[in-house]
Amino acid sequence: MKSYDVVILGGGAAGLMCASEAAGRGRKVLVLEQSPKPAPKILVSGGGRCNFTNLQAAPANYVTANPSFVQTALSRFTPKDFVALVQARSIPYHEKKDGQLFCDKSAKDIIELLVSRAKGRGVEMLLEQKVGDVAFSDGAFTVQAPGGAYRAPRLVVATGGLSWPQLGASDLGFKIAGQFGLEVVEPSPALVGLAFPEREMARFKDLAGIHLRVGVACGEWRLVEDLMITHKGLSGPVMLNASLYWKPGREIAVNWVPEFTVESTFNQLKEDRAAGGRGKFRVWFSQRIPRRLAERIAWNAEARGPWAALSDERLMALARDIHDYRFVPAGTFGYRMAEVMRGGVDTREISRETMEAKKVPGLFFIGEVLDVTGQLGGCNFQWAWASGYAAGQNV
Ligand SMILES: Cc1cc2nc3c(=O)[nH]c(=O)nc-3n(C[C@H](O)[C@H](O)[C@H](O)COP(=O)(O)OP(=O)(O)OC[C@H]3O[C@@H](n4cnc5c(N)ncnc54)[C@H](O)[C@@H]3O)c2cc1C
Repeated sequence: MKSYDVVILGGGAAGLMCASEAAGRGRKVLVLEQSPKPAPKILVSGGGRCNFTNLQAAPANYVTANPSFVQTALSRFTPKDFVALVQARSIPYHEKKDGQLFCDKSAKDIIELLVSRAKGRGVEMLLEQKVGDVAFSDGAFTVQAPGGAYRAPRLVVATGGLSWPQLGASDLGFKIAGQFGLEVVEPSPALVGLAFPEREMARFKDLAGIHLRVGVACGEWRLVEDLMITHKGLSGPVMLNASLYWKPGREIAVNWVPEFTVESTFNQLKEDRAAGGRGKFRVWFSQRIPRRLAERIAWNAEARGPWAALSDERLMALARDIHDYRFVPAGTFGYRMAEVMRGGVDTREISRETMEAKKVPGLFFIGEVLDVTGQLGGCNFQWAWASGYAAGQNV
C-alpha cells in the first residue's frame, strides 16, 4: 500500500487546485480521477471555452442552506487571483459580459494550466481510478481504487456534483459523508431548464426556438435576461438561474416585456379600446417580442370577443399575460441537462476556514460536492478554485 500526506478524490476543478496548493506547501499529494483524462467537466464548460470565473462573484451569487459559509473562502482566493494564474500562462481570454471571463481559444487551456501547475509541484495523478471504498483506521484513511490501495492521514473529497452523468458523475462524496455521519442537503438538478406542465406545453411548444429578453421571478428572486422557448419548456440563462431558486410546486412568473408593467399596459389597452381599435397595441407588442409569440399571447385574450367589447377584466387578464404570466413547472429537464447540482454535503458540518469536516479531523470536502451552488456565469468555477485553495492551505 502506498502512503501519502494527502489523497484527493477527483481530478476536476477543485481537486486540481487543492492538489497544487497542498504540494506547494511541501505535501506529498495523490489525485485519483475516474476518467481517462483530467477535469472532463472543464472541457465541456462554457460551450468549450470555459467561463472560468466571474469578476463580480460574491457570496450573494451563491445558493446554500448556510449563506455565511462561502464568504471566507471567496475572500481568500478571489477571481483576480485566478486571473493572475491565467495571465501568468499567457492564456488568451475575454470578458463576455457582466464580469464573465472565457478562454479565447479552448477550455483545454485551463486544464493544461491546472495539470501542469500540479505536476510541476510534484503532484501524482492517477487516471481511470474510480474510487469505491474509503475506510479509516489508526489515524489514516485507506482508499480502494482499481490500481490498488492508498493511505493518507488527510483525505479530500472533490468528486463534484451529479449533473451530466454522461461524464461519469458519482455519488461517492455523499456515501463518504454518510459513512462518517455528516448530513447531506438533498441534491437536485440546477442551472437547468424548467419543464412546462401539459396545458402550457400545448400553448407554447410549436414556438420552440424563439428567444428573447424577459423578466423572471421565482419567489423573492428576480432577473431580466435571455430566455429560450424549447419543445419541453423554458430554458436560456434567465431560466437556468431561476432553477436555482425553484422548488417543486413553486410558481414562475414571466414578464415578456420587462420594461413595462401590468398597470402601464392596462392603461394603454384601455386607451386603444376607447379609440375603437387594437392597432396601436398590436404594433407596440409585436415590436417588442417575436411576432409569433406576440400573436399567441394577444390572440389568447382577444379571441374572446371583439376588441371594443372586451371588459376591463379581460384587458387586465391580457396585461397580466404579458407582464405576469405564471405557471408551475412540471419539473426540471433533469441531471443530464443540468450544469450543476444544488444541495450536497451540509456546510454546517464543515469549517469555513479550512473545508475540514468539524467532527472528522483529516476529512475535507471541496467544490460542488458541498451544498454551495453558484449562479450562471463563472461562479461555480470560482467556488471550486476558492474552496480548493482553502483546503490546499490546510491539508
Ligand atoms: C455542460 C457544463 C458546462 C459548465 N460550464 C460552466 C462554466 O462555464 N462556468 C462555471 O463556473 N461552471 C460551469 N459548469 C459547472 C462546473 O463545471 C462545476 O461546478 C465544477 O466543475 C465543479 O468542480 P468540482 O471540482 O467540484 O467538480 P468536477 O469538476 O466535476 O470534478 C469532480 C471530478 O471527480 C471525479 N470523480 C467523481 N467520482 C469519482 C470517483 N468515484 N472516483 C474518482 N473520481 C471521481 C469526476 O470524474 C470529476 O473529474 C458547467 C457544468 C457543465 C456540466
